Amino acid sequence: MYNLPLCRDHFISFFHKRIRETIEKYKMFGLEDKVVVAVSGGKDSLALALALKDLGYSVIGYFLDLGIPEGSAFARETVIRFGEKFSIPVHVEELRSVFGYSLVQISEIMRRPACSFCGTLKRYYMNRFARSIEADVLCTGHTMFDEATVLFSNVLQWKEEYLFRQLPVLPEEQGLTKKAKPLAFITERETAIYCFFKGIDYLDLPCPLSSGAKSRRVKLRLLQLEEDSPGTINRFLKGFYSFKKKINFSSFNKEDIQPCRECGYPTTADRFCSVCRMKRKLSENVSRG
Ligand code: AMP
Repeated sequence: MYNLPLCRDHFISFFHKRIRETIEKYKMFGLEDKVVVAVSGGKDSLALALALKDLGYSVIGYFLDLGIPEGSAFARETVIRFGEKFSIPVHVEELRSVFGYSLVQISEIMRRPACSFCGTLKRYYMNRFARSIEADVLCTGHTMFDEATVLFSNVLQWKEEYLFRQLPVLPEEQGLTKKAKPLAFITERETAIYCFFKGIDYLDLPCPLSSGAKSRRVKLRLLQLEEDSPGTINRFLKGFYSFKKKINFSSFNKEDIQPCRECGYPTTADRFCSVCRMKRKLSENVSRG
């Protein structure tokens, strides 16, 4: 985004400074807070974890092994090596152990693409871990292009509730740990340069199960727009956040949230959250054969 010719040390300080400014501007967390960073093994979340540690925050990594063939095992090794190299504790959990099925098994049993369950399960287990260690905040490595992709898709479908909730930080609420995206104004090119300068080895493989995912196609189109007219994505996203400040959302009907009767996770559904409903459906399907 910034076309500044910087040497290694200046690039690293500039990268840190911009992350710190985002954290402070959106009151994401402070130096005394316990910060969980969800690490996928990719460049963004690993760059974030190390940058936060270098900035003096107390960081704990969390990785969910989804059991994706030709993907999860490499990602798992990558995050473990990263944790050892940079002395950052990383907690690894296996979906199959905590949920009973891997992502591929779920997809086969439910006869639906894995991508339609992946986000829900990741959010659920990340939050569960953050709550289990009483973390103050849960950070993800979503970058400016990830945020712009979500915004663009939500605008195309006028998903009001999602547009209302899209912010670089979401406060703690009813069973949900506070969530933050400190890379919301950082590009993927910048996280790649940071990883290179800091010696972070990361996994550079797209998820083998998401090649046809719609979000990826939207992202590629946005990147095309950015290439044609640099700065477009930055203006789109920042314009949205400043526009939001001017809107009175008090008249907006927020959906009713209550704790799931099975696990306590907040849900807008009647009795059970989507993960508990998924678990029930899976065991019904399995017992039916
Ligand atoms: P994605 O949804 O794959 O674009 O990833 C967005 C963010 O979610 C990443 O930057 C990570 O912070 C987090 N994340 C993705 N996959 C995992 C995973 N398997 N375990 C822990 N965190 C993850």
